[in-house]
Amino acid sequence: PTEDYENLRRRIYSNTKELWYYVHHELTKVIQEDNKAEKIQTILDQIGERKRSLLSDQQSLPELDGYNEWRQAEAANVSDLVQRRLHYLQNPPDCKDARKLICNLNKGCGFGCQLHHIVYCLIFAYATERTLILNSKGWRYNNKGWEYVFMPISDTCTSAYDDKVVMWPVTYDAKVLALTFIDSISQKPKFLPLAIPKDLAHRITRFNGDPSSWWIGQMLKYILKPRQAMQKAINDTIAKMNFKKPIVGVHIRRTDKVGTEAAFHHIHEYMVHVKDYYDQLELTRPVAVRRVYLATDDANVLEDARSKYPSYEFLGDASIAKTAATHRRYTPLSLTGLLVDLHLLAMCDYLVCTFSSQVGRVAYEMMQTNRVDASDSFFSLDDIYYFGGQNAHDRVAVMPNDGAYQDISFQVGDLIGIAGNHWNGYGRGTNKRTNMNGLIPWYKTADHLVLYPFPEYKQVPL
Ligand code: GDP
Repeated sequence: PTEDYENLRRRIYSNTKELWYYVHHELTKVIQEDNKAEKIQTILDQIGERKRSLLSDQQSLPELDGYNEWRQAEAANVSDLVQRRLHYLQNPPDCKDARKLICNLNKGCGFGCQLHHIVYCLIFAYATERTLILNSKGWRYNNKGWEYVFMPISDTCTSAYDDKVVMWPVTYDAKVLALTFIDSISQKPKFLPLAIPKDLAHRITRFNGDPSSWWIGQMLKYILKPRQAMQKAINDTIAKMNFKKPIVGVHIRRTDKVGTEAAFHHIHEYMVHVKDYYDQLELTRPVAVRRVYLATDDANVLEDARSKYPSYEFLGDASIAKTAATHRRYTPLSLTGLLVDLHLLAMCDYLVCTFSSQVGRVAYEMMQTNRVDASDSFFSLDDIYYFGGQNAHDRVAVMPNDGAYQDISFQVGDLIGIAGNHWNGYGRGTNKRTNMNGLIPWYKTADHLVLYPFPEYKQVPL
């Protein structure tokens, strides 16, 4: 390791202690003082500044440890390998003879939801070594089908001919199987998200902090290739915007989602995190303009944001938001707008959104394919990352907890089924050994990554 790296590592250790000295001293003093509210606010501001400094230093560590180029090359290589395996799977030498899986793009939901439906089908195909056939005639975003907007998911094999189609899971070994929606499977196969392939896991974890979403991002990368006309429409819209870095992406999902599947969040709830991002960035470099790319399905948000936050520059297309806000959201026109939004959100340095929305999750998954590791480049105001219909998501205890406060007890190695993070230092979950449900100090647990022995596609060179 370089001298800079060692110095930075020691600085982080020492400044973490400094943070504690500060908090301990100030709060002990405040106990005896009047004017508590004002004093506590000053302390909070100070802690915020020290936290940003610590995080900023930690983010510099990988730039100094001497492995940065290695991580970049490795991320590109593993992504390339997955893409070549998918290409191999999707282009069998003899299509007529190949085992197939049929995925119907007739789910009556938004584009993010439909993308995730195809991702689920493609993972299923990869796990069972079947070529995926996408049936998309009558698709709500283009009546003629997926292939009229995006490149087909196979160059050579797009039909099951006249072979008999059997619904999975009535049988597992018919030549041509068709899939139901992920939400209606009762016995979920273990290879479904958030599982990742065992043969790649130890490569992915060395460059990425959230391999599950990286893996899903790879599926999106394979599927989502706009045809020339669509790509041009996207490029033309983007060219009109002054998209420059640094920039923070904000996705505000409102309209039909609010009150049914998610809570309403005020613009200031998002902006707190945008401000925090820029305050941290300014510790290491000057920021001339605090730029925000705002994507939303609420036609009024852009104007509202501009009037409430005049010191920020908001980029966004009011006409895209307007279309997204109405019943026209399921039309070809809205698709161009949404692809612009997704593409730009995924290009931002940081993303503030609600993971209850599939649009927010797709943006993050796309971010994961745009860079080596996007796992610390977002904040979700509500849910932790998930894939709709996923298998149980556990955390594993890495420190014991005696459950002396309102929290539950656990031992090192216990698996805890996760309901959510409350973003206050605690989350909620169920200890699978004791069945106790309650609060858990998040820092005493780590994500439990599920490795599944997917086929290794030895025919595709490493
Ligand atoms: P979810 O309902 O938010 O989980 O995501 P879906 O993709 O399933 O459905 C929401 C639909 O609303 C999208 O497909 C879009 O048509 C529209 N929409 C939501 N947010 C945005 C946005 O930021 N920009 C655009 N252009 N459309 C959006």
